Amino acid sequence: MGTEWMADGKCREFPPETFFPRDGVGVIVAQRICASCPVVGACLEYALDNHVDHGVWGGKSERERRRLLRERRRLRLFNRDAR
Ligand code: SF4
Repeated sequence: MGTEWMADGKCREFPPETFFPRDGVGVIVAQRICASCPVVGACLEYALDNHVDHGVWGGKSERERRRLLRERRRLRLFNRDAR
């Protein structure tokens, strides 16, 4: 996946540190911005594909992305075993 979608990211209107919050309140602030971002889906997939560890990407916190990756991994294994 390329990075052309980044040019349309809503985060370009905010300081970068907004998306690297230090606490839960900061995460919520970033997630509210992401909620109205036109490239939220591409952003999330990019972060998941590239195992981006830090910050809020695609409206998901680091913990939420880790959970999503675990769920996808589990689903892949389930689908593989079901064949
Ligand atoms: S989803 Fe959030 S972090 Fe991703 S490009 Fe949009 S505003 Fe930026």
